[in-house]
Amino acid sequence: MINHSLTELATALRAKEISSVELTLLFLDRIARFGDLNTFITVNEEMALEQAKAADERIAAKEATPLTGIPIAHKDIFCTKDILTTCGSKMLSNFVSPYNATIVANLANAGTVTLGKTNMDEFAMGSSNETSYFGPVKNPWDTTTVPGGSSGGSAAAVAARLAPAATGSDTGGSIRQPAAFCGVTGLKPSYGRVSRYGMIAFASSLDQAGPITRSAEDAALMLQTMASFDPKDSTSVDKVVPNYLDEFHKDLSEMTLGIPKQYFTDGVDKEVTKAVEGAIRTLKKMGADTVEVDLPNSDLGIPCYYVIAPAEASSNLSRFDGVRYGHRASEYDDLADMYAKSRSEGFGEEVKRRIMIGTYALSSGYYDAYYNKALKLRRLIVNDFAEAFEQCDLIVGPTTPTTAFELGGKADDPVAMYLNDIYTASINLAGLPAMSVPVGFDKGGRPIGMQLIGPYMDAGDILNVAHRFQRETDWHTKMPEGYE
Ligand code: GLN
Repeated sequence: MINHSLTELATALRAKEISSVELTLLFLDRIARFGDLNTFITVNEEMALEQAKAADERIAAKEATPLTGIPIAHKDIFCTKDILTTCGSKMLSNFVSPYNATIVANLANAGTVTLGKTNMDEFAMGSSNETSYFGPVKNPWDTTTVPGGSSGGSAAAVAARLAPAATGSDTGGSIRQPAAFCGVTGLKPSYGRVSRYGMIAFASSLDQAGPITRSAEDAALMLQTMASFDPKDSTSVDKVVPNYLDEFHKDLSEMTLGIPKQYFTDGVDKEVTKAVEGAIRTLKKMGADTVEVDLPNSDLGIPCYYVIAPAEASSNLSRFDGVRYGHRASEYDDLADMYAKSRSEGFGEEVKRRIMIGTYALSSGYYDAYYNKALKLRRLIVNDFAEAFEQCDLIVGPTTPTTAFELGGKADDPVAMYLNDIYTASINLAGLPAMSVPVGFDKGGRPIGMQLIGPYMDAGDILNVAHRFQRETDWHTKMPEGYE
């Protein structure tokens, strides 16, 4: 059962081969057994079993959706009524939201069971899951390495079969990079496709929720349910959610893949390049055409992202003042001192660094030099992608320049850490849909991911190509040793 796809699980549930309660107990048991990975901040045993019981009744009444009764995990950035939502921070370590995030509600309405809340970098700031107040997550493929971040708990949980699927959020790569490091499939939808209501804000013009799964088919099913127009999020797009599974009919001979020359340079680990080139050869054999495309402003993605994201974060995080909610210092002199102490105690190093950078970039003396300049660069990056998509249907390249690095390996070097996002952050700046799929392993047995990038509001082609690739190859079915 632990290797079943979501569709296979749904079939087994309907055929009464297993009940949702049994399935939920199976995964709760695995979560406890492999607790050393530190993938969960909160395990939701009691409520999960109630939800599973309700799902079994719904299945018996023949009112099930394709996801009814399937246990999943939510990244701890999504508000969940009645259980903790910490966002990986001391600031919110005792916060219980009075409402569900829209994506949590959508998945719950479909009948999924919430196993718990997964570990993450504090306020989703990081690429290694090491900035979490609740300690780092270990990568199940090699527990001396990081799982990636910030959705590291979700990716590691799916890889170790502690949950059949999980939610994540991606501001500059936080679904795709951990998916690549953990050998699973991760999809960041177009900006506006999925509601941000109830997802704790990091950088509002970049944040987007999406699924982390073991296959493209499962990702399509999850996205289908997560996506909806939501009047509660003013940036949510009022466009019908297509049936992504219906888009799986298009043959690869109808597809042209764009290969950006800037994505295949000496900066990328040779083993990563080799695996991605191998995957492209497979897609060509399956009938796809390729064309070289130019993304001349690619190298501006990181500097641009690391001005805009901290600027928006500094504004978003100003709400954590120890008054309305969040950690409050126990001793202080006056109001200003209470704010200062509560924020100093509640936020970790990386979050403080982002707030400082962002506040500086937005200050009246430097606004034009940094923030305004970054907005102009963002426009150039958007234009580069638009021009590339005149020549191709989707763009392919590596998800990350390296495979998973050692725990602690980059923790003291923020710039080296930021460079992990070199192939992912630009996609958020442009608001495009993109996913990472497993395409091999390095010599040390660490997974390698390939990124597929689609045009705005069109995840159909990347899902289809990823699905067809996964029918031809078996990288996505591999499982780390010791988690049987
Ligand atoms: N690693 C990037 C950062 O630290 C991206 C994080 C994310 O996508 N949430 O900002």
